[in-house]
Amino acid sequence: MIHDNAWTLYDEKEISKLEKLSKDYMDFLDNGKTERECTKLLVEMAKKNGYRDLADVIKSGDKLAKGDKIYAVNMNKAIMMLNIGDDIIGDGMNILGAHIDSPRLDIKQNPLYESEELAYLNTHYYGGIKKYQYVTLPLALHGVVVKPDGSKIEISIGEKDDDPVFFVSDLLIHLAQDQMKLTASEVIKGEDLDILIGSKPVKGEEKEAVKKAILDILKKEYDIEEDDFISAEIEVVPAGKAREAGFDRSMILAYGHDDRCCAYPSAIAMMDVADPKTTACGLFVDKEEIGSVGATGMESHFFEDMMREVLNAMGIYSELNLTRCFRNSRMLSSDVNAALDPLYADKFEKQNASKFGHGLVFCKFTGARGKSGSNDANAEYLGQLRAMMDKHDVVYQTAELGKVDVGGGGTIAYILSLYGMQVIDSGIAVLSMHAPWEAISKSDLYEAYKGYKAFLIEG
Ligand code: MN
Ligand code: MN
Repeated sequence: MIHDNAWTLYDEKEISKLEKLSKDYMDFLDNGKTERECTKLLVEMAKKNGYRDLADVIKSGDKLAKGDKIYAVNMNKAIMMLNIGDDIIGDGMNILGAHIDSPRLDIKQNPLYESEELAYLNTHYYGGIKKYQYVTLPLALHGVVVKPDGSKIEISIGEKDDDPVFFVSDLLIHLAQDQMKLTASEVIKGEDLDILIGSKPVKGEEKEAVKKAILDILKKEYDIEEDDFISAEIEVVPAGKAREAGFDRSMILAYGHDDRCCAYPSAIAMMDVADPKTTACGLFVDKEEIGSVGATGMESHFFEDMMREVLNAMGIYSELNLTRCFRNSRMLSSDVNAALDPLYADKFEKQNASKFGHGLVFCKFTGARGKSGSNDANAEYLGQLRAMMDKHDVVYQTAELGKVDVGGGGTIAYILSLYGMQVIDSGIAVLSMHAPWEAISKSDLYEAYKGYKAFLIEG
């Protein structure tokens, strides 16, 4: 159904389902602030629902067949799930793909320094951020520190009520005459996004006494030494929990909706589809925010390689079968869309902008400057999707990302389309995308879940 505001269509039963999904999603966000944490949560979810680790299948030499559910983890940062249906070659797969990395600040490998009796950690920002949004708000540290002996220390500091938080300072307005004349991209420089982590010197030290005190604490409380930052991945994210927003509690304000608001309902849809006729596949990838690069991004060969393993374990592996399986597949490449913001209405073309409350967004093409870099989905495929959504009473809308030539963006859609499968961008409308706190409508989360499930059943 297109055009209707979903909120006007719900009865009490649907509202309670929507609220339950929203609450579970908020818990997922609170416990999954990094790609590593999200992967861990998704593995737990899969295991609980009878999914088996593909690595164990390979090791044991067990066979796979229709009805088997498996998952494969890529370097603790990405995960693929598969629920095998009737004819994986002839029917291909119904693939739900989303990314679980979000914009943030990353701690550098040699980060610690002291200046004027204040101790700092140097950062390098990750993904597209407005740098000025990251100053003066409470920040938390999440990540891992790996010791040379291979042992791993997991870190999450700043989320509990009695945890300390960290912050980047900003120049006081009283002295900001010059700063206020700068453009927004110059106001806070990337190299100035250093987080303040301490101000209390140890007694009896003459040089760098605050840094020394911090190192003492890191050693005592976390068993971390200065050199350990070399083999660490620590992400600096906004501290605090996802919150309901608005008097009517219709929205969720949280860090990392992009793209966990698509990843989570995709995963739940995967769990809910018990015995699909067509093989159901969930892809939850890393590094989308920096171009889908690296071993854990969508451009890596991981998915393809795991599918080789699956076909091999099914006793039907050949390169031709693999390419047929991909070619016969369909995908919803799920990522957030720019919600029409009335405060910045001139950046949107209203008739082709996504709106809060209007459901799952289908985006035929992304890209910039004349659709450049876009996967332009086929009209035939859109026709099929309309039928599916209508059959399952899913509220959906179509949109593009802002007005022509105002900007643009990309997703993982173009990568999967290279296999010759049907791919379209779909997802959820977000306000303040890439800000420390982004907003979505609960109803869009719910309609996305319904849409993903319909796709897995009917695709
Ligand atoms: Mn995204
Ligand atoms: Mn993004």
